[in-house]
Amino acid sequence: MLDYVTDKVQDESRQGEAFLPFTGDHNNYKKRFYIESYGCQMNFADSEIVASILNKEGFGATRNVENADLIFINTCSIREKAEQTVRKRLTEFKKLKDQNRGMLIGVLGCMAERLKSKFLEEEKLVDIVVGPDAYRSLPGLVEEAEGGQKAVNVLLSRDETYADISPVRLNSNGVSAFVSIMRGCNNMCSFCVVPFTRGRERSRDADSIIKECSELFENGFREVTLLGQNVDSYYWQPPLTPPLGENNPQPLLDENISNNGNTLKIEVSVMVASPFGGGREEAITFAKLLEKVALISPLLRVRFSTSHPKDITDDVLHTMAKSKNICSYIHLPVQSGSTRILQLMNRTYTREWYMGKIDRIREIIPDCGISSDIIAGFCTETEEDHRDTLNIMEYGKYDMSYMFFYSERPGTLAQRRYKDDIPVATKKRRLQEIVDVQSKLSFESNKKDIGKVFEVLIEGDSKRSDKDWMGRTSQNKVIVFPKENNELKKGEYVMVKVNDCTQATLLGTIIN
Ligand code: SAM
Ligand code: SF4
Repeated sequence: MLDYVTDKVQDESRQGEAFLPFTGDHNNYKKRFYIESYGCQMNFADSEIVASILNKEGFGATRNVENADLIFINTCSIREKAEQTVRKRLTEFKKLKDQNRGMLIGVLGCMAERLKSKFLEEEKLVDIVVGPDAYRSLPGLVEEAEGGQKAVNVLLSRDETYADISPVRLNSNGVSAFVSIMRGCNNMCSFCVVPFTRGRERSRDADSIIKECSELFENGFREVTLLGQNVDSYYWQPPLTPPLGENNPQPLLDENISNNGNTLKIEVSVMVASPFGGGREEAITFAKLLEKVALISPLLRVRFSTSHPKDITDDVLHTMAKSKNICSYIHLPVQSGSTRILQLMNRTYTREWYMGKIDRIREIIPDCGISSDIIAGFCTETEEDHRDTLNIMEYGKYDMSYMFFYSERPGTLAQRRYKDDIPVATKKRRLQEIVDVQSKLSFESNKKDIGKVFEVLIEGDSKRSDKDWMGRTSQNKVIVFPKENNELKKGEYVMVKVNDCTQATLLGTIIN
């Protein structure tokens, strides 16, 4: 059995990643901070926001934890294993702190709310605890902690989107960047802790997203991935704008309403499009946002993640189909192939409905790459339910999947309602079977690409040799090909013919 089938199978290369120092980083910062990040892409994007907030206050980044005055760990609560990893790191940092007077340790992100009193008071592991909506208060909290107080802010917000903060791209390849378009989640998948740790869903101001993506493009980036827990429910209503020459909208309606004998005077301002220029712009849906970002330049690739199957619309699919630079790739987590389990998971779709969505994607975008998230061994899962999962994977012909075994999380609906009754050995065996099916599907999908020609965005040298480039196809497949003395640079597009493949990588040659 593979070693990694202990909790999850996903790209681990970024887990525990620490920031590189800023470019042009001279020793003129008042303090040095070190951030280590765990979990999903949203967490890595959040660390870039934190770095930006700290940098504005005169703090510089370091990759050497021993040189740091402030150590932050951006945490993930999604599975128990992630929490254990963070706890282990905190204990190591605590030892370092005991040898370095004045060093402060802070916990950021999803574990903050749930474990604040444990970390601060019981175990005395940390000095600062900051939840995902409270990063603006971080410089103030650092000051408080320096004064010897325990500094905590874990308040969740209904409107914080950090729209105005330009993230510092510290570990970027200079070609692709993540852009958060929304925060939180209003779905209540019964297994998931995210709605509790990251709060209510809110969409970020569309203008600030376009501005951030345009700046990235001007700075040489050629690919943006729009991030949210459920991007298809993105919805942003631009604010009212006053008519020309006026500061405030005039009440258009003036009503007297009687309420239990008391007369209330209600003034209702209704701004409608006026010939003088005032009014409300049309609301921006995810399809419109995608279109707007794609219009920045045909040379800017646009990706997004994650799509909840219940929310992805034909509108989004048609927008993808007509815009060449919106990548033909959808991450469409199924979680389980059994309608009964999907119901217990509160996913709000059935097996058949999900299969219909796959059909619709293939109909509108025939060359679309599709990937998934799958959970093995959810409460009450039978062998038949598990076979339904293996079988829906074959139907979806996923190019790739993130695969996990179920980990009960405190406070979730599943923890309150159902018994975590599948033995760990069964969970692991089922996960291994899921991994085996996915390996076969990935290999089959790659083999089908042999002989085809793809437009590839070059991301940099291949991991194995600086004589080869590594890039991605629109379908998000990694492709490696010899540089062949061409005057190409990373961030450029090139046509590559696939000659061979492994299960994880396409191998090709440049064609003119
Ligand atoms: N919002 C995304 C969605 O709905 O697909 C995914 C969010 S979550 C950060 C990423 C994945 O972690 C989920 O799709 C799910 O497969 C997995 N996951 C979440 N909670 C889990 C749990 N308690 N045990 C195992 N896997 C879990
Ligand atoms: Fe969790 Fe479901 Fe929200 Fe995804 S959609 S973050 S799985 S609650």
